[in-house]
Amino acid sequence: MTTPVYENFINGHFLKNQTGDTFAVKNPATDEVIYHVEIADEFIQNAAIESAKQGFAAWSAMTPIERSRILLKAVAILRERNDELAKVEVLDTGKPWQEAECVDVETGADVIEYFAGLAPAQVGQQQMVGNDFYYTRKEPLGICAGIGAWNYPLQIACWKSGPALAAGNAVIFKPSEETPLGAIKLAEIFIEAGVPAGVFNVVQGAAEVGQWLTANPNIEKVSFTGEVGTGKKVMASAAGSLKDVTMELGGKSPLLVFDDADVSQAVSAAMLGNFYTQGEICTNCTRIYVHKNVYQQFIDELKTRTEQNIIAGDPMDPEVNLGALISKKHQELVLGYIDKGIQEGATLLTGGKALSPASAPNGYFVEPTVFVDCKDDMTIVKEEIFGPVMSVLVFDDEDDVIQRANDTHLGLAAGVFTKDIQRAHRVIHQLQAGICWINSYGNSPAEMPVGGYKQSGVGRENGIETLDHYTQTKSIYVGMSNIESPF
Ligand code: NDP
Repeated sequence: MTTPVYENFINGHFLKNQTGDTFAVKNPATDEVIYHVEIADEFIQNAAIESAKQGFAAWSAMTPIERSRILLKAVAILRERNDELAKVEVLDTGKPWQEAECVDVETGADVIEYFAGLAPAQVGQQQMVGNDFYYTRKEPLGICAGIGAWNYPLQIACWKSGPALAAGNAVIFKPSEETPLGAIKLAEIFIEAGVPAGVFNVVQGAAEVGQWLTANPNIEKVSFTGEVGTGKKVMASAAGSLKDVTMELGGKSPLLVFDDADVSQAVSAAMLGNFYTQGEICTNCTRIYVHKNVYQQFIDELKTRTEQNIIAGDPMDPEVNLGALISKKHQELVLGYIDKGIQEGATLLTGGKALSPASAPNGYFVEPTVFVDCKDDMTIVKEEIFGPVMSVLVFDDEDDVIQRANDTHLGLAAGVFTKDIQRAHRVIHQLQAGICWINSYGNSPAEMPVGGYKQSGVGRENGIETLDHYTQTKSIYVGMSNIESPF
């Protein structure tokens, strides 16, 4: 059976490359090639820049309210096509349909809707200075590049294009090579909604195509989602032409469970923050610090619920709540971390092996895995695993656990479970993380800014401030009287 071949999406349509080079995309739940994609060669790269220049000229000349109206049409189409798009995400990523059906498309649409609404409300300032005055304009940056990870492909494309387009920029987006289709679907939807050709372009390929974007002098900003190590390369390359950057990187986030917490709720948060999307979420609370007084109760309930309530299998089955990891290579990496945990003396509470469910026997599954009796210096406690692997640690003292939670170069997210309202805020204010939850974990509405402290990121996505990150301020001084000049 022949599989489809997708071309790059440039200037409002699919464009064939000249080299004929393609790559294959597999369904992680079946290990089968589902389609091929053409790599963006030099011809495509040049065409993408020319297209984005033209797109920018047309789009930035529109009023914010005109742009907003068009983007809201795209939002409506995204919602209408929810199921079709969710299926694309399930087949590309291996995540469960029960998640994609209600989260991936919806949270992407929400962010475009949010920024479409904000765009017309963005204003400059004006101030009298003597008889003269100045005013400022918020102008778009020009061409912005988006580079996405594979865990939430469509959502990431929406989160990057929403504020960029609302502010009047053009975008060249490179999805991950593992999950290239969601961004193409979004590009088609933008055109259908009336976004001018050239405003949102999709280039395909692996690191080389990303590198080209980060180095290209026509591009004013790079918004990147991916690993810390790649983020450093992207930032270094972007520095060559002093591009603005937004970096959404990895994490190793702590969840602190105090002895007055609702333990069942804390277990729910821990499971959501480690097993949702089979653990492939950047904000996951992979270090769970539990107070010694509730430690046993916590791990007993965690073991029971993990063993009884998780259903792995064909991700399109609506009953399935644990999908396949993105690739064989990633499955091996995650299993390697599990071996390391065992070697370094952590106790396996449950899980620990590859899985081969009857309904998806060739998929890259890993059992939901919980390590207990973990120590702070173990590899599994220090490094991001990006799979369904939770490390549980015990603590006794508030100040001590804060210090332990902060003892990492990462700072993406953190959470606290306690019924003591003062402790909740006191502790969370001391945690070095950009995205924090109290008696909750993982929710990320469009209104709330998200981004990392320390090496987990630079800049923010979502929330009001993000629109500013896609504009530059022009100051205009207006003389109201004759110039006083010594010449
Ligand atoms: P990678 O860093 O491997 O890749 C991210 C993107 O960058 C991909 O499109 C990749 O292309 C591309 N890329 C790779 N090398 C370069 C380069 N030198 N220059 C420019 N682009 C490059 O991340 P993953 O895709 O593996 O995603 C998982 C990571 O993403 C985790 O660390 C996770 O924590 C993080 N993440 C962070 C989020 C946040 O909001 N903070 C959200 C989601 C994920 P290709 O893959 O095609 O090779």
